[in-house]
Amino acid sequence: MYKLRMFINGEWKDSLNEQKSHIINPANGTIIAEAPSGNEEDASMAIDAARRAFDSGIWSDLSAFERASYLYKIADMIEENAAELSKLETENTGKPLKESEYDIADAVGCFRYYAGIVTKPSGQTYHVTDPVQAMVVREPVGVCGLIAPWNFPLLTGAWKIAPALAAGNTIVFKPAEITPVTTYRLFEIMKEVGIPDGVANLVLGGGATVGNEIAESDKVDMVSFTGSTSTGRSIMKSASGNIKNISLELGGKSPNIVFADADFETAVDYALNGIFLNAGQVCNAGSRLLLEESIHDKFIERLIEKAKKIRVGPGDHPSTEMGALVSNEHMNKVLEYIQIGLDEGAKLACGGKRMTNNGLENGYFVEPTIFVDTKPDMRIVQEEIFGPVLIVQKFKDEEEAIQLANDTPYGLAAGVFSQDGAKALRVIKKIKAGITWINAFNLAYNEAPWGGYKQSGIGRGLGTFGLDTFTEVKQININLDVKPTEWFNSVESDMGTIAISNS
Ligand code: NAD
Repeated sequence: MYKLRMFINGEWKDSLNEQKSHIINPANGTIIAEAPSGNEEDASMAIDAARRAFDSGIWSDLSAFERASYLYKIADMIEENAAELSKLETENTGKPLKESEYDIADAVGCFRYYAGIVTKPSGQTYHVTDPVQAMVVREPVGVCGLIAPWNFPLLTGAWKIAPALAAGNTIVFKPAEITPVTTYRLFEIMKEVGIPDGVANLVLGGGATVGNEIAESDKVDMVSFTGSTSTGRSIMKSASGNIKNISLELGGKSPNIVFADADFETAVDYALNGIFLNAGQVCNAGSRLLLEESIHDKFIERLIEKAKKIRVGPGDHPSTEMGALVSNEHMNKVLEYIQIGLDEGAKLACGGKRMTNNGLENGYFVEPTIFVDTKPDMRIVQEEIFGPVLIVQKFKDEEEAIQLANDTPYGLAAGVFSQDGAKALRVIKKIKAGITWINAFNLAYNEAPWGGYKQSGIGRGLGTFGLDTFTEVKQININLDVKPTEWFNSVESDMGTIAISNS
């Protein structure tokens, strides 16, 4: 069993309250690790350490090149330990090993990407009225509180930690309480590469305690949060005390639109990938499949045939294609939504049950599930289920496809499948979503911005946008002709006031 600790001011620590929690392997319910359940005091210690480190300039005063050299070393060490980290990620989240390997490789790429771009030219100059030269520089925001979810633990950590450190900030990181194992290893790596004390701090514990303290503290300058929309709303309130910078990557209910002229097998393949990757626990999952009427029945038939063949099992089994859901609690939430769908009158086309056969009885497995005959106002159509549950909607033309696609409070991602390029682009341009694909789904790149419209978030992670998120913009105006302006006192007078004549 792994014994995890927090990392504050360069030292490994247990929680001041000495409380511990058990970390569970969702594939079989066994305990894999023991972690401190930190509280507000632990968070506060970590925030103080990050504050002191930032104010000392120990990190922000390094050149971008020097900071980048640490990031490259972190990337190298993640890569060297990729096999172990992938195994741990699978043990902690339940996802198939193949997916964990992909996530870890992506995290390596993320550290390298930000190490690379932070040394590139930045800032702007402006030709303003002579004799002034105006320019803009980017500076670190300060102490950044980084709060992450459980679905891609190490990867979402990398998406925040790499740009925040590259930009010169100090950080307090809080992983989701149920999936801290790979993040703990990442902090071991950061210690090993010699990140200065206090620059990167790790606090383990709950959202209402540790997370809220980070969001509320006046000593924190920015919160970067990835998680559910309801928590995002609460973080906006907590962060308002000192008007923190906030970046929110929230939930989604993303439409995947398939027109009758799409390449049929490609669209079926991506529809499966869109909802059953990581058992649907993906913020940008294509959880709503919008099918043009004329292909609806044929498409569903093929989809069911393929969904039934998905090999569900423990993530560490070489032939597993879909793993367990992350926890018993989350599995029950997903099963509850399936019941809600049935009660609302939607028709179950396949799946719908917990899986307890063939040695899966102690894990949290749910069948690949597809609902048809849905109506736009049903809860299963409007709300994020975050599990292997696909909601199918039917449309008759382009206009209705766009209207249905935009008809939820979310706006994270969207896909369109059609062999008519002009139509596909026309539709994508009308959809309110931050991440879109044509004839593909689920693709993500460290180089390209990530984030949503509407209630799917504020700001963008990744790409150059992700680095900008962790900076403040400073305008510098330099006077090139140093002499008094004589705006005041231009007229010789010994009086402080002007005598106004009434005549
Ligand atoms: P969650 O909102 O329950 O928790 C996310 C994190 O916030 C956890 O670390 C949690 O401890 C913390 N937290 C909870 N309450 C808090 C509070 N009051 N103050 C501060 N922190 C608090 O989300 P989750 O269940 O861990 O993750 C699933 C959600 O994350 C889904 O909605 C998914 O769509 C979203 N997500 C979004 C993206 C994206 O890029 N848009 C990526 C991954 C996940």
